[in-house]
Amino acid sequence: MNIMPNRMDRGFLKYQKEFEDKSLEVLRSGWYILGKEVASFEEEFAEYTGAKYCVGLASGLDALWIAFRLLNIGPGDEVLVQGNTYIASVMGVTMNGAIPIFIEPDEHFGMDVNKIEDKITNRTKAILITHLYGMASRMDRIVEICKRYNLRLVEDCAQSHGACFNDRMTGTFGDVGCFSFYPSKNLGAFGDAGAVVVNNEHLAKEFKIFRNYGSEKRYYNKVVGANSRLDELQAGLLRVRLSHMKELTEERLRLAERYSNEIHNEKLQIPTTIEGATSVWHQYVIRCDERNCLVEYLKEKGIGTLIHYPIPPHLAEAYRYLGHQKGFLPITEKLSDTVLSIPFYNGMTEEEQTYVINALNTF
Ligand SMILES: *Cc1c(COP(=O)(O)O)cnc(C)c1O
Repeated sequence: MNIMPNRMDRGFLKYQKEFEDKSLEVLRSGWYILGKEVASFEEEFAEYTGAKYCVGLASGLDALWIAFRLLNIGPGDEVLVQGNTYIASVMGVTMNGAIPIFIEPDEHFGMDVNKIEDKITNRTKAILITHLYGMASRMDRIVEICKRYNLRLVEDCAQSHGACFNDRMTGTFGDVGCFSFYPSKNLGAFGDAGAVVVNNEHLAKEFKIFRNYGSEKRYYNKVVGANSRLDELQAGLLRVRLSHMKELTEERLRLAERYSNEIHNEKLQIPTTIEGATSVWHQYVIRCDERNCLVEYLKEKGIGTLIHYPIPPHLAEAYRYLGHQKGFLPITEKLSDTVLSIPFYNGMTEEEQTYVINALNTF
């Protein structure tokens, strides 16, 4: 059997007719940028997350860098970021000239809340939390620290659509919740797309102005902005997928539960969530000290895997200028050598999952 790490076609085929009908509707409407699909999606996604406002943007990276820009975080300012995040989180900080200060993760892949306070200086302006692999971080402690030190809080929810901490959805704990709808995300579009959710009306308005060349009224430009608009076609297709998010997330929970119950191999460590947090299982990430061996073994059996992520941002060539050496973040670096994302996607069949479980248990 051949099993790919992810199958985006399955998510399309499941609601094919609805996606095709919506595409034709938008194509035939004659209106393609900033119209009623975007406005409706923004309303529906805000309601889904429990935030007051949502603003559609062109990508998750745009959501991040524009968030820091509008929060006035720039050159000389420090932002605390977990070491084991996707590099886009860090770029959202550095594109504004701010400095990322890396914090080691805990056992559940989230920022270790006990290591935050040591890193706070008088230049610290914000904390950026990534709910990695779909798992909500310890938001009670993080919100408390932000309040105590008067720090801004930005959440990178590119992997955590629908994940909650103490029944509150990720993205709604701080100043801005940043989302990506890249096709492989839990709520995926059919191209690039992103959004922010905020509770502050003024900030929501600033995002709307910024995404459209800084213009509020046509040809009247208030600030130097960007072109970062969510388009009508993607917004329409996202509305279709969003209407099925409950069942899509439940399916992921069932698949994850089966993996957790049936993978038994002392060489493999399965993922666990923290108390109060839920995971929407963007990835199912196991750990193995003999990971490279495991990858080869699974490949021979036709099972594809992915590594999220093989090079931590502080060791990326792009961030050589920060001057960090190997050994600077031992826990993060150990994770990048041992984590493995096994096949996991909506529409995964029982047979496919059985095959993966058997392979893992006989490694
Ligand atoms: C995907 C992702 C992003 C970037 O989103 P894009 O839409 O690809 O720009 C940012 N952060 C995390 C954690 C991601 O997984």
